Amino acid sequence: MNQFIDEEIIHQILKQTKEVSKKEINNILDKALLLKGLELKEVAALLNISDKETLDRLFQTAFKIKENIYGNRLVLFAPLYTSNHCSNNCLYCGFRTDNKNMKRRSLNLDEIKEETKIILEQGHKRILMLMGEDGEFDYFLKAIEAVYSVKDSKGNSIRRINIEIAPLDKEEFQKLKNVKIGTYTVFQETYHRETYKKMHPSGKKSDYDWRLNVMDRALKNKINDVGIGALFGLYNYKFEVLALLQHANHLNKTYGIGPHTISIPRIEPAQNAPASITIPNPVSDEDFKKLVAVLRLAVPYTGIILSTRESAEIRKEIFNLGISQISAGSKTNPGGYKEAIINPEDEEQFTLNDTRTTGEIIKSVIKQGFIPSFCTGCYRLGRVGKDFMDLAKPGLIKLRCLPNALTTLKEYLEDYADEETKKAGEELIQRELDNILDKDRRDKTIEYLEKIKNKERDLYF
Ligand code: SAM
Ligand code: SF4
Repeated sequence: MNQFIDEEIIHQILKQTKEVSKKEINNILDKALLLKGLELKEVAALLNISDKETLDRLFQTAFKIKENIYGNRLVLFAPLYTSNHCSNNCLYCGFRTDNKNMKRRSLNLDEIKEETKIILEQGHKRILMLMGEDGEFDYFLKAIEAVYSVKDSKGNSIRRINIEIAPLDKEEFQKLKNVKIGTYTVFQETYHRETYKKMHPSGKKSDYDWRLNVMDRALKNKINDVGIGALFGLYNYKFEVLALLQHANHLNKTYGIGPHTISIPRIEPAQNAPASITIPNPVSDEDFKKLVAVLRLAVPYTGIILSTRESAEIRKEIFNLGISQISAGSKTNPGGYKEAIINPEDEEQFTLNDTRTTGEIIKSVIKQGFIPSFCTGCYRLGRVGKDFMDLAKPGLIKLRCLPNALTTLKEYLEDYADEETKKAGEELIQRELDNILDKDRRDKTIEYLEKIKNKERDLYF
């Protein structure tokens, strides 16, 4: 079944592309600008770049491609951990069953609602729900409903829930359809079978194939948007990038739907998690920037997610390399939004580096010239799966992304922003309106902005 990850080919390609001429690299960069993606060999050649001048050109190309497909917006979300019980033993994770110091906790539905309310009051409209793997799927379904049911003091509620939980089986996917989710995400962690085996010594997660084939099960069972990812640091990063692409190509070829998102977490320290302390294959900041840019060129239509695992400084740099979605104000322990914890390492899955509040991140994103977006328009209009891809692939999605980013930013400014952010945000909106080239769409956006000022909400394209 999983013939689509071919380790031998990946190793061969990486060897063959060690010495690629500058001229060839330039041709690959030119080809990438056509937004049609790249072949594995071309991607490998880019991953093998090491001189600064060519790297700079790679970075500029990634920036242009992101602008061409999605425009100037960065979509924001917050993670919500419902439980840290886990029967697996992943060597890099604080929730692993062998970590006896971890204070285990599953939030009840009232606690989940309280967490949701706090996230809403920060301005978020999208939540990513996660938990450890402990056979609590029915509980998780109720948790999803609980999150959607909450309204905050402004009358706002969560508009899109993405989920990241252990691989599901057919029956579970069918049940999931009844509660409405956005993207279903699972990271393969490492696509390198031998490393996978070492890193997942026990529990259900030790089955590489069960995890690798989860997106096939999801798409066959009517989940529309799927997200993939690798945990960088476990095995050679170049191998993981090529394997991610083999995975994406397989999904695209088989179902006509590539991954909606690709996540690129790097390992952060976690309590009693040996592989998070002695990282098997650490990825330097320079290589990390390169791999993000290369992914943007290789699969231009796919969203790339950057989490608060990374520091504020690195995030600012990497926003320029093709990132389209970011988390903000995150907590990685169940109950973390309500309760300030005394010993984070006793409860968190891993340590976070960007600990700024959502408000601070928004302010900084605006200053950097990006539009913080809370858009959920595609999902609300059923523009998912292939319909989304058909717009994203030729770069047409930005025609919706931009006005939706402006209307949802306006909502944020009206409901949650401090004076300084409000001023900077209003200026940004005025500037960006000029970039809506279609006059009818621009007029409609102006009309929506006015309505939002007059307390109407949830207007989208
Ligand atoms: N428990 C489910 C699973 O493993 O599939 C759900 C996802 S888990 C809550 C979220 C992700 O966190 C994992 O897939 C893993 O890639 C990542 N993670 C675990 N430990 C980490 C660490 N020390 N640093 C960074 N990311 C980590
Ligand atoms: Fe459990 Fe997921 Fe952590 Fe592994 S990564 S120990 S499955 S929570």
